[in-house]
Amino acid sequence: MRKMIPYGCQNIDDEDIEAVVKVLRSPLITQGPIVEEFESRVAKSCGAEYAVAFNSGTSALHATMFAAGIKPGDEVISAPLTFVATTNAAIYMGAIPVFVDVAPDTFCIDVSRIEEAITPRTRAIVPVDFAGYPVDMDGIKAIAKRNNLIVVEDAAHALGATRKDMPVGKEADMTMFSFHPVKHITTGEGGMILCNEEKYWKRLRSFRSHGIEREAVNWEYDDEGPWYYEMQDLGYNFRMTEIQSALGISQFKKLPKFIEERRKIAANYDEALANIAWLSIAPKPALAYKHAYHLYPILLDRDINRKDFFCYMRAHHIGVQVHYIPVHLQPYYQRCFAYGRGNFPFAEGIYAREVSLPIYPGLKEQEQAYVIQTIKEFK
Ligand SMILES: *Cc1c(COP(=O)(O)O)cnc(C)c1O
Repeated sequence: MRKMIPYGCQNIDDEDIEAVVKVLRSPLITQGPIVEEFESRVAKSCGAEYAVAFNSGTSALHATMFAAGIKPGDEVISAPLTFVATTNAAIYMGAIPVFVDVAPDTFCIDVSRIEEAITPRTRAIVPVDFAGYPVDMDGIKAIAKRNNLIVVEDAAHALGATRKDMPVGKEADMTMFSFHPVKHITTGEGGMILCNEEKYWKRLRSFRSHGIEREAVNWEYDDEGPWYYEMQDLGYNFRMTEIQSALGISQFKKLPKFIEERRKIAANYDEALANIAWLSIAPKPALAYKHAYHLYPILLDRDINRKDFFCYMRAHHIGVQVHYIPVHLQPYYQRCFAYGRGNFPFAEGIYAREVSLPIYPGLKEQEQAYVIQTIKEFK
């Protein structure tokens, strides 16, 4: 039997394994200097001042909402075409997720419609670089500045993407990367926030470790000593380990190669699928912006039954996926925030027709040729 070709998966080599084993043989396996090295490597390569590693992209997003000072009843704006973690982060802090539909020419938040969603209770905008398409950050930052809002970029899909040769990671107030195995590099589970301001950096680090501060605390009483620490806020244990960071550093060294491979696979699909009349490919950014191709989404024509196509591909051992069920249609969001079908027609329209094809470093040429051939034989 043929093995399933997934839509995405990790690429781990002997070097990665050795890096992890080395930590396992060392005395320190939870947070230590390797975490800091991983943070500083990612920050430096993206041109950001600070980085804070977390045990998942989701906990990292949660921490940005804390660092941004999001309070119960605040509103946080994002797009509905994303993974639920993007907006769950705001809800963890008691905030209300407010959606702005995506634009059909980017599949990212429609920047021209953000301002109409802003109210006196809006505190932050969380744009998502859907599939790896870098969202128009200049436009979003201008809106944020006019309205005194914080921008948190959900760049889970966009590690390695660039805007005018500038890597994604330094422009928003805070930028989140995920290191889940389907993302560009992996630490098993993991995530990171990049930022340029010390105040965010400090709050992110505090939130990651129970809200506890050890540095620069004044011993309250004379008989207090070097053991002393203070819990100043309600934080969590969201720490990344040395084991994960060693894998992260080893993987991060290969990012340029991984991105190159993803772009090559995307270019092959572009060419091979261009003359199939019953499907179209997802939008591409203008030349100054470079896509990171976390996903390769296609849209089927309205007269094609998406479920038939999906099941046909799966029956041929091709692990296609659908990205995403719009977040506002999740029962929890409908129940708690009164969203419903028809609220965001572009996101819903994309969802109805979207299928993501296999794309990851390590996808073999003959595997991709098989995927393409299978698509061509569908109709
Ligand atoms: C993967 C992902 C996340 C969350 O990352 P985890 O590391 O899996 O917690 C958040 N937002 C988007 C858009 C993602 O794709």
